[in-house]
Amino acid sequence: MTILSYNFFYVYMNILFSYLPLSKIHLFLINLDLRKHFNMRFLPLRTMGDMRKDYVSERFMIISKKDDKVIDPKKMPFAPGNESMTNPSVLSLVAKDGMLQRLQDNDDEYVKNWTIRVFESKNPVVSINAENSYSDKPHYSEPAYGYHYVVVASPKPKDTFATIDPEQWANVLVVVQDRLRWLYTQKGVTYVSIYGDQGEAAGNNNPHPHLNLITFSTIPPIIESEAEASHNILNEKGVCVMCQTINAETGSTRQVLQTEGFIAFCPWASSQPYEFWIVPKKHITSFSKITQKDINDLSLILRSTLGGLSKTIKNVSYNLVFHLSPEKKNSRQIHWHIEIYPITKPRSGLERGYGIFLNDISPEQTAEKLGAASRKELANLVGII
Ligand SMILES: [Zn+2]
Ligand SMILES: [Zn+2]
Repeated sequence: MTILSYNFFYVYMNILFSYLPLSKIHLFLINLDLRKHFNMRFLPLRTMGDMRKDYVSERFMIISKKDDKVIDPKKMPFAPGNESMTNPSVLSLVAKDGMLQRLQDNDDEYVKNWTIRVFESKNPVVSINAENSYSDKPHYSEPAYGYHYVVVASPKPKDTFATIDPEQWANVLVVVQDRLRWLYTQKGVTYVSIYGDQGEAAGNNNPHPHLNLITFSTIPPIIESEAEASHNILNEKGVCVMCQTINAETGSTRQVLQTEGFIAFCPWASSQPYEFWIVPKKHITSFSKITQKDINDLSLILRSTLGGLSKTIKNVSYNLVFHLSPEKKNSRQIHWHIEIYPITKPRSGLERGYGIFLNDISPEQTAEKLGAASRKELANLVGII
């Protein structure tokens, strides 16, 4: 190939990259079978990891290279006064005269006295500077392309998701909702995952409670499979499977707690002891459109159930994940919900090797304990408010 045609192709590909989600480009490239000719390196190489797919299944993993020195969590990088250890904030929420001000760091000037702080992760799982290289099966990989933001939920290192008050939770959720909307306006964002890890067994040794917002140019496999199954049931039976589930679990022995708009329950096929989900009772697919009233209600049930969980199991570690619909047009939808997975034991060979989970406490038993503890928390909170 001549230098001229290569240059033309390079410019053409750059224009394409700026308009299309990367996954579509990837398919496009496979279809034209151009990848072999061009050795799949169109843009300058940058240092970031890649996203690899299993030889056979749809399982993804990310090779995350930690090029920057990882800051020792014991140095409290998320604490007030240590703002320079993180990237500058894109939002610092500051309470002043009974109002919340939305500020952000400038150059070397850091906003002080914040209650919530949002910034790009210094050790991102994905990056918009991801290396644009692809490879085919059996060594399938695509760029780990995306944004990784951190939302610090409290300036106090001793706080956890189970101790911040519902008002603080509501502010956190509003901030998450704002960032979610903004991320979906960015190119190459097909899905935004939102999750928090509490405790070392959950993979987090940073004491400040914080949520991660990580975007992907493809839909994560678990969301894809939930959306696919929901779509099929809707087509077949004309009902939303989660709406049906809510009917079945309301007042059941697996119910943990209810508020006006939400229900918490331990799922019928809980994958681990004390797993529970929080689901809006109304059929709603988008978290980004829920109202302030819904957010206040959600904060109350989140705080009560997480409080109940921490009272039931001392020093409990858990993962908390938002399962939201993809917001792109024509994507299959799910009735959005939150899933909480307490980590009470290591995974067995049956779980890792066969995908069959061993649960030695039934969801009916755990719901009873969680329900009693969560109702107590709720009563205290409502008493305080
Ligand atoms: Zn529904
Ligand atoms: Zn789910």
